[in-house]
Amino acid sequence: MRSGKVYLVGAGPGAPDLLTLRAAELLRQADIVFYDALVHPDIVQIAAHAEHVAVGKRCGKHSTAQRFINKRLVDAVRKHAHVVRLKGGDPMLFGRAQEEIAALRAAGIEFEVVPGVTSALAATAEVGVSLTQRGVARSVTFVTPRIGEGQDSNDWARAAMSADTTVIYMGLGQAEQIAEALIERGMSQSTPVVVVENASLPGHREFKLTLADLPGLASIGVAGPAVILMGDVYSDASAHAFEVVPRTRYA
Ligand code: SAH
Repeated sequence: MRSGKVYLVGAGPGAPDLLTLRAAELLRQADIVFYDALVHPDIVQIAAHAEHVAVGKRCGKHSTAQRFINKRLVDAVRKHAHVVRLKGGDPMLFGRAQEEIAALRAAGIEFEVVPGVTSALAATAEVGVSLTQRGVARSVTFVTPRIGEGQDSNDWARAAMSADTTVIYMGLGQAEQIAEALIERGMSQSTPVVVVENASLPGHREFKLTLADLPGLASIGVAGPAVILMGDVYSDASAHAFEVVPRTRYA
């Protein structure tokens, strides 16, 4: 049976104009598009001639659902020449791309990955503080404390401690455990933290706080996707118009 090609495409952090030209062109040519929950509707609309299939779940991802997506990709490419799998940010960063790649490889299907702007970088652009400010930071780590179903817990905190600047994905729901784990490891309670919600999108908000105050975020009501940035590069980030996390509301 003849089969087409699957493009694993990064949709960027949210704002449609942060999409790459290559991604836009592939969307225009697509026959069918499988897209994640965080992908902006205007980006999906670029695939004007394609069938649009929503497959995303926000957080709480289930492996059965992932297996179902893998199968749908394989089935789709048997019928369509040009299949696009649109993923938020960059597909190769916390996007479960590897499971889809493995399924495509196992089925002998041709695929290509198109990078996207990952949310850590979109958030950094908004804050206006370099992740690798000269003289302060020479290393950056992207980590998540989130553990997938059936996975062993990994020592994400060790990774966070080992870099000068840390960006935490999918961490908002575990703010308290994050602060606890890092402080226990010896990270200073006064380590500057910046939380960026809805980077690149209209509902965007930024909060400046310290590691010790991170648990207080729960009371603020951050509803959109957010990344937690931490490290000494944010020490003098106060000139920026951050929203203040009110200390009195800390748990
Ligand atoms: N592949 C994606 C990450 C998927 S994991 C990427 O490269 O960006 C989903 C996590 O990404 C969210 O829990 C949040 O931490 C982060 N995220 C996604 N969109 C975001 C946005 N617009 N602003 C801030 N964080 C975002």
